[in-house]
Amino acid sequence: MDLALLFRLPEGLRLLRLTVLPQIVRVEAASYRSSSRCPSCQTVSERIHSYYTRTLADVPCSSRRVVLDLHVRKFRCTNARCPQRVFTERFPDFVRPKARKTLRVGELIRALGLALGGRGAQRLARLLGISASGRTVLRSVMREEAATASRGVRILGVDDFAFRRSYRYGTLLMDLEQRRVIDLLPDRTQGTLTDWLQRHPDVRIMSRDRGGDYAAAARASAPSVEQVADRFHLLLNAGEVVERYLTRQHASLREAARALASEDAPRRTTKRSPTDMRRRQERRAARLARFEQVRALSREGVAARQIAEETGVARATIYRYLSATHFPEHLPRQHERPIEPSIPSLQERWNAGEHRPLTLWREIHAQGYPAGVAQVRRLVMAWRTPPPAPRIAGSPLPAKEEAISYSVRQTRWLLTKPQAALSVREALYLTTLKQLCPAVAEAQRLLASFHSLITERASARLDGWLEQCEHSSIAEVVRFALGLRRDDAAVRAALRYPWSQGPVEGQINRLKLLKRQMYGRAGFALLRQRLLAQPTLPP
Ligand SMILES: [Zn+2]
Repeated sequence: MDLALLFRLPEGLRLLRLTVLPQIVRVEAASYRSSSRCPSCQTVSERIHSYYTRTLADVPCSSRRVVLDLHVRKFRCTNARCPQRVFTERFPDFVRPKARKTLRVGELIRALGLALGGRGAQRLARLLGISASGRTVLRSVMREEAATASRGVRILGVDDFAFRRSYRYGTLLMDLEQRRVIDLLPDRTQGTLTDWLQRHPDVRIMSRDRGGDYAAAARASAPSVEQVADRFHLLLNAGEVVERYLTRQHASLREAARALASEDAPRRTTKRSPTDMRRRQERRAARLARFEQVRALSREGVAARQIAEETGVARATIYRYLSATHFPEHLPRQHERPIEPSIPSLQERWNAGEHRPLTLWREIHAQGYPAGVAQVRRLVMAWRTPPPAPRIAGSPLPAKEEAISYSVRQTRWLLTKPQAALSVREALYLTTLKQLCPAVAEAQRLLASFHSLITERASARLDGWLEQCEHSSIAEVVRFALGLRRDDAAVRAALRYPWSQGPVEGQINRLKLLKRQMYGRAGFALLRQRLLAQPTLPP
C-alpha cells in the first residue's frame, strides 16, 4: 500500500520515510519544488540558499503522536531591490511560518477548546494523542474572529445577562437579521456599548430592553441609530408592574386564600419535625434581617443597584422589599408546579404543531410564566414518549393535594389565564381577591389589553391605552405609563418593526449552559469565543 495515500501532505511535499515507534509515528518528508515565491516581493526564485529541517506536531494516528520532520529550503530573493535577501519556502495551507504544529492539528485543538473549554479540551487531546497545554488550547480558541462576525450588522439586538446573579452582568449582542450572536461585552455599562457602536457604524436599528444605559449609549454614540424597545421585554415589564402592585396587596392575597380555605373540606396538615421548624425559623430570621437591612439602606438614600452590591440580594427582590407594606412572609410551600397552570395552553400549541421547547417557553414566559425552560423541556419530553400503560380499572387517581394559597407570582400568572382555563378553585380565588381589592380587576384588564396591543402590534390603540393607565388608581400602572411616554419613539418603533428579541433570550439560555463548563482563569474572553463559534440559528 502506498503510505503517501494514507498520510496526506500538501502539494510540493514528498513522503520519505515513516517510522512507527511504540508511542510515536515519525514521518519524514521533503519539499521537491525547484522554485519558490518571495513573500515580500512575489518574485519567483530558483536560487537555493540552504536546507534545514522543521519538526512539527501533526494529527495523531492510531492514538500515537505524529511528529513530522520536514526538510525544507531557504531561497535567495533575486530581486535586487527587495529588502528580503533570504526567505524560507512556505506551505500556507499546511503550516504557518515558525509554527511548531500543522494547521490541521491546530484546528482540531481549537475545535476541542470551543466544544469543551480549556481543561476538558486538554484532557481529551491527551487521550487522542495530541499534546497541548492549557495555554495552547486557550490561545487557539481566542483567535480573533469576532471582528468579522460583527461586520456590517444593521439590525442589532442588545440584552444583558448575569455572570453572577446580581453581582456582575455582561451584554450580549445579536444580529437580528442573521439571527446570530455577534459579540459579548464584559459589562452592561453605557461606555462599553458606546465604544462598540462607534466601531460599528453600519448599525441602523437597535432593539433593546428598557434599561436606560443601552438607550443612552445609542443616543451618545450614534444618534442616527433608531432605537426599538423590545416587545418581549415590554410584556415582561408590564407583568412586573402588576407583580409589584400585587406585592403591595400582599395582605389581600392571603385573605382571599384564607377565605377559600375555610370553604374547603378540612385540610390535611402536614406535620413538621422540630428540626424542620427550627430551620424554617432560622431562615425566616435571616430573611427578615436582610429585608430590614435593605429598607434601612434605602432610607439612607442608597440606590437599589448599590444595595444589591452590598447585601448580595437580587435587585428584583430589593424592589419587591421596597414596595411591600410589610415583611413578605413565605407562603406555605406550593404543591403545584409553576408550569401546571400553563399546561392547557402548551398542549394546545403542541397539538398545533409547535414542538420546540424553547419557543413554547418563550411564549408562556412572555405571559408571565415565572420559571425557566427546564420544566417545559421535561414536559415536552414526556409528550414525545408514549404514555404509560393505562391505570388498572377501579384504582382511583390519587387526589391531588390542593394548593393552600397563591404567591404573588402565581396570582399574576392566574390573572393572565383565560377565564375558561381556570380551575374552579382558581376562579373562586380570583373572584374573592377582586372583591377584596377591586383594582386587581383593573390591573388584569389593562394587562390583557397591553398584551394584545403588543402582540398584534396595534399602534393605533397605544394612546388610548396609555390614557387609561394615566387615569388608573394603581400608582405602579401610572408610573409604567409615564415611563413608556418617556421612551415614546422606541415603544412606537417596537410596534412598527417586526424585529423581536426572542432569539436573544434563547442565546442567553445557551450562554448559561456554556458558562457552567468554563475555565476559571480564561473567564469572559473564552466564553465570548465559544459563544461566537456556535453555528447560526435556523430561522
Ligand atoms: Zn523578494
